[in-house]
Amino acid sequence: MTSRTDLHTLGVADASRALASGACSSTELVTHLLARIDAHAHLGAFLHVDTEGAVRAAREADARRAAGQAGALLGVPLAHKDIFVTTAHPTTAGSKMLAGYASPFDATVVTRLAEAGCVSLGKLNCDEFAMGSANENSAYGPVRNPWDRDRVPGGSSGGSAAAVAARLLPAATGTDTGGSIRQPASFTGTTGIKPTYGVCSRYGMIAFASSLDQAGPIARSAEDCALLLSAMSGFDERDATSAERPPQDFHAQMLTPRANAPAARPLQGLRIGLPREFFPAALGSDVESTVRAALAEFEKLGATLVDVSLPRTELAIPVYYIIAPAEASSNLSRFDGVKFGHRAARYANLLDMYKKTRAEGFGPEVQRRIMIGTYVLSHGYYDAYYLQAQKLRRMIADDFQRCYADCDLIAGPVAPSVAWKLGEQGDDPIQAYLADIFTLPASLAGLPGMSLPAGFGQAGMPVGLQLIGNYFAEGTLLHAAHAFQQATDWHQRSPA
Ligand code: GLN
Repeated sequence: MTSRTDLHTLGVADASRALASGACSSTELVTHLLARIDAHAHLGAFLHVDTEGAVRAAREADARRAAGQAGALLGVPLAHKDIFVTTAHPTTAGSKMLAGYASPFDATVVTRLAEAGCVSLGKLNCDEFAMGSANENSAYGPVRNPWDRDRVPGGSSGGSAAAVAARLLPAATGTDTGGSIRQPASFTGTTGIKPTYGVCSRYGMIAFASSLDQAGPIARSAEDCALLLSAMSGFDERDATSAERPPQDFHAQMLTPRANAPAARPLQGLRIGLPREFFPAALGSDVESTVRAALAEFEKLGATLVDVSLPRTELAIPVYYIIAPAEASSNLSRFDGVKFGHRAARYANLLDMYKKTRAEGFGPEVQRRIMIGTYVLSHGYYDAYYLQAQKLRRMIADDFQRCYADCDLIAGPVAPSVAWKLGEQGDDPIQAYLADIFTLPASLAGLPGMSLPAGFGQAGMPVGLQLIGNYFAEGTLLHAAHAFQQATDWHQRSPA
């Protein structure tokens, strides 16, 4: 039985069990967390806390349970990255452009989690339109890393990761275009999964780069992620790129033992590929040793490590930073002062209204990307940049398929270093772009990737291990991650 003062220590699976056994009610859990969120406002993780709505939803969940309803997520609290549109809460995408915006509909991911019984506590801070790696591009201020408040939590799902790490809630939604679930999970010692492109509906997820954007959970453990992903995912006819597959029970897949694997070596027969390009000389030695120690643990669990190569790893950076801004420049053209959110107060004519609205509403990083995107798509440059990038994107995806002839999963670091200090990257966006090197390849290929806590590096900051699966191999990913978490306790560590 959980005492009332430590309800925040419950992850999703723990909360699910506590609610099912009657050890606590959703109302008790939610009330406890709301007080804790209030006490940790200095982290900047939340953009909107819906106290009344959350308590109401928790009471409803308790009433449904009392009436005999069950469900793994019934009454489990969470919050959404503020890139998902919600009718119950404001939606800003971390931008001044959407200050005061009220969505008339809910994102499919939000609807599905609500239908599963999850109680939404509000909206979480993020980089403006999910562009960034440190959550320093939010128009509403940065998020602090609960392990060291002078450091960034990663981005763009920085609010989600910080809130889970600080035990403000058991789980949160995130989105990953080029690493925004995996990298903040790595920087905060949380577990996150970006599924295969198409597994979660993008309907109601404010678009950044549509061919890359995917939703996924950030939580304490692989088991928690499996429970959430089962509810979030599935075909949606309102997203033209949604994968037409039957609903998946990722939790059951995670628990299914490998054929012929003895209990002491649950990963026997699993081949984990280590791309040599994921261990370059520039990799932080603290990150490298932590990742190597985690890989040794996988070997103990029965997995075999094999050398593979992703020769175009470095090229993923220029390829992504052409394709993502190109798509962003097109997606963000809808914010013109007419249809959504902000409109300049004073202007001379229609063109002037567009210009002033966009100059006032968008922050510097968003403006930079719109300019890059417009340039690479413009007549005369399209062939030289955008088309070349698309060709390389295909080659990067093919490189992965060559690796998967020799292995079942790919492993490596999530990021070249631990979380850096707030403000440290100053005005140099290129530095941040380069740090995306290990997450971008899987994004460009549309492959599922995970980050799981693997230990601690420089300054006692968390280090994540990245696992990348083949298309729709979320079950294998979660199974391997779960086996690792059964044998280690990195995912259970929390900041003082
Ligand atoms: N850091 C990358 C960027 O700035 C990825 C962001 C994301 O995945 N949303 O674009």
